[in-house]
Amino acid sequence: MSAAPDRRSSNGAPPAVSASDTSAPVANLSGRLVYRFGAGEADGDLSLKPLLGGKGASLAEMSRIGLPVPPGFTISTVCCQYTIDHEGAWPDGLAEEVDAGLRHIEAILGAQFGEAEDATEVGGDGAPATAATNTEAPLLLSVRSGAAQSMPGMMDTVLNLGLNDAVTERLARTTGNERFAYDAYRRFIDMFGDVVTGVPHHHFEAALAALKAERGVTSDLDLTAADLRTLVARYKAVYETHAGAPFPTDPRVQLRLAINAVFASWNNDRAVKFRRINRMQDLVGTAVTVQAMVFGNTGPTSGTGVLFTRNPATGEAALFGEFLANAQGEDVVGGLRTPRAIAEMEEAFPGVYAQLVDAARRLEAHNADMQDVEFTVQDGHLFLLQTRNGKRTGPAALKIAVDFVREGLADPPTAVRSLVQPHHIDQLLHPQFADADRYAGRVIATGLPASPGAAVGRVVFTADEAERQRDAGERVLLVRVETSPEDVGGMDAAQGILTARGGMTSHAAVVARGWGTPCVSGCGALVVDEVAGRFTVGDTVVEAGDWLSINGSTGEVILGQEALVEPELTGDFETFMGWVDAARTLGVRANADTPADAAQARAFGAAGIGLCRTEHMFFGDDRIGAMREMILADTDAARAAALDRLLPFQRADFADIFRAMDGFPVTIRLLDPPLHEFVPHTPESQQETANRLGVPIEQVQAAVARLAEVNPMLGHRGCRLGITNPGITAMQARALFEAAVEVQAEGVDVQPEVMVPLVGTVAELADQRAVVERVAAEVFAERGAEVAYLVGTMIEIPRAALTAGAIAAEADFFSFGTNDLTQMTYGYSRDDAGTFIPAYLDRKVLPADPFQTLDREGVGQLVSMATTSGRATKPGLKVGLCGEHGGDPASVAFCHAVGLDYVSCSPFRIPIARLASAQAALAS
Ligand code: PEP
Ligand code: MG
Repeated sequence: MSAAPDRRSSNGAPPAVSASDTSAPVANLSGRLVYRFGAGEADGDLSLKPLLGGKGASLAEMSRIGLPVPPGFTISTVCCQYTIDHEGAWPDGLAEEVDAGLRHIEAILGAQFGEAEDATEVGGDGAPATAATNTEAPLLLSVRSGAAQSMPGMMDTVLNLGLNDAVTERLARTTGNERFAYDAYRRFIDMFGDVVTGVPHHHFEAALAALKAERGVTSDLDLTAADLRTLVARYKAVYETHAGAPFPTDPRVQLRLAINAVFASWNNDRAVKFRRINRMQDLVGTAVTVQAMVFGNTGPTSGTGVLFTRNPATGEAALFGEFLANAQGEDVVGGLRTPRAIAEMEEAFPGVYAQLVDAARRLEAHNADMQDVEFTVQDGHLFLLQTRNGKRTGPAALKIAVDFVREGLADPPTAVRSLVQPHHIDQLLHPQFADADRYAGRVIATGLPASPGAAVGRVVFTADEAERQRDAGERVLLVRVETSPEDVGGMDAAQGILTARGGMTSHAAVVARGWGTPCVSGCGALVVDEVAGRFTVGDTVVEAGDWLSINGSTGEVILGQEALVEPELTGDFETFMGWVDAARTLGVRANADTPADAAQARAFGAAGIGLCRTEHMFFGDDRIGAMREMILADTDAARAAALDRLLPFQRADFADIFRAMDGFPVTIRLLDPPLHEFVPHTPESQQETANRLGVPIEQVQAAVARLAEVNPMLGHRGCRLGITNPGITAMQARALFEAAVEVQAEGVDVQPEVMVPLVGTVAELADQRAVVERVAAEVFAERGAEVAYLVGTMIEIPRAALTAGAIAAEADFFSFGTNDLTQMTYGYSRDDAGTFIPAYLDRKVLPADPFQTLDREGVGQLVSMATTSGRATKPGLKVGLCGEHGGDPASVAFCHAVGLDYVSCSPFRIPIARLASAQAALAS
């Protein structure tokens, strides 16, 4: 590969950036393209994150507040797509701005970047180069990626850039450390070859292994300076063989190629996959930060490390991380040497440690968040290379939020807005093992507790296999020697992740923690044979497909399939959720059909039930028979008798739900699904029903055939059932009002809301409303007591949304059934959409699955319009939403924005919906 020609846009106009990979607006290439930082100043700041990426923006910000960062400059994200689309050509002005950036670094450091190679090359196996005349330490650069949202390890980096034979000689001379200089050079050739030119790393590894074998040593550290000179010559040969051209010796050419390679890494497979999994669709590209290198491997007073300002697993307020003396960054991540806990620095590097503690405190206060910091110590001097808000577990997020408020680093609204995210709450609700004592005898190994929570699955050894089996409906545990960014698809597919290698800041640990996937890492007792599909621990052999359980909170690996239980929430959770509730205006109710669900929903903070699907009450063994009798009855009397048998079951269920929801509204929906769903479909169950009813099986089969529909979702369901079989509505209303009167007499505050499903015309609602009101009056007269109640409707058919003004005249409330409303607005069958939606998402035909996240543009427009016209008819009309979207944070934010009164979702999503609605309120 040769240097890309410096082509400019041919028509002189600012070229448009392809929008193929993002929904963001066309980037503006006419403004500043390069932002410098260093020596206590910066062109940019944190607010420019969309242009500078997280890394560039944080370096600018750290420089501004006087923290020690090596000087550098960041090329804006707006240049990324342009260079990709134009085969490495740069937009107008970028080359000049990069040159100015280089002069800026040189001026701050008094150092010079690169020099053209002397005529004399390093000869063969290590003959010395011609001595350069320059006496200054040369300036070497790092070239790093960094998008506006963190994509850890997904894109490329080039370090030690600017080395050639002459510069390396000068580096050796000015540092007095020849071994260091040649070590840096060989690492650079390897990394440049791998990242920029596509010469696979393993070719360089093979050359290194061969040299070590020749020298009879096992560690890189045992190679001498002369050995490393030899290695450089061999690496150059490896490069030339595989790249088809000599290693580029002009540092400015190296820089240009490296910048383009980092831009190009935006579109490598793993980065694309990572963005897809994480739904990162609004980014225009990566920024590239070019920065003076500092070296952690110049000797025993140098080193490198990564730290979190608080423990990212527990939230404990103490520095947490790893440090390696006399090493470069990739040594920490690469797992070749075992890093030391950061706390040990206090003894080994007391001055630097104190500076780190101070920097951590300042960064936390400045960013009002826990930080994840990369640093290097060069000859006793501390340099910060990056800071970003640290990824953390759910429990840690909660503790950090509450501690930040207690320590005065944040106020409650800030804690609610930015320190705990819905996915953290989700993690808090993750299952744990039912009985830790019970499995004690089956713990076969213990690794690091990298990401908490309990996970159970069948063992798989490759990411592909994990995805395949997940797609086939299997629960899998991914077991790897270690994970790499290529594995993200499989990691996402797995219930949990187990690795033999890698520490608390390893790839597996960081990614799993961010996603809330339980993970045990660095489990050294495991001997993993990924090819054979098995691992061994001592005498125990575990094969692919075997059941395995892991405890990400303790690091235990357990043979077999453990039972899981839901966690309990106390302490900090209550404190934090108190702040959440103070901030929100949108109510949160539960979709709950049983007294147990209702109790769980109350425990999670539900202010009532927004949807009780009464059909679920008919499936119990004791009820389904009577239900079938009712459906198959061929006389009115037989149907009435069957309904009479169902009534006590319904009444008892309603009574228990009212008790569990004392003081809160309970929305009870009349029967909705097509009757076909309740009839027996197998010959055995048809025979059983026939025996029960004392009729021939043919009669049962004839009824089943009669009820079959071509499009059941658009068929005889919802209010259509109640209108054609008013006895069903009457039975449900009677059960409901009898229960309400009975429970109210116990002193319970009962607030029933009767909801009519699948209404498309106002006449349908009026019909059902009349039945409900008649039965209510009958029951109240019989019992000599009244209960206040509402009658409302679901809005889940587009026609209902379009005629909401008229429907509101008959409705005391609306509740949007966005599952059906999405189905009917898109014309996508709820039950069949899985066959094409994944392809739509892959091809970006859809931005998100509309059954998960409410489509604001279409379905949302109906919601907003119907709310407005409903309230125009009936000011103050209560309006809620009870589709699955009620537990999806983005959809909850929409509900807040259009002024709904409440959302209703499954019990385990209630805390998430509470937080999402508080965040929406704080954002507006
Ligand atoms: C809906 O359609 O959104 C709804 C809540 O009802 P169901 O899912 O029971 O059809
Ligand atoms: Mg529905």
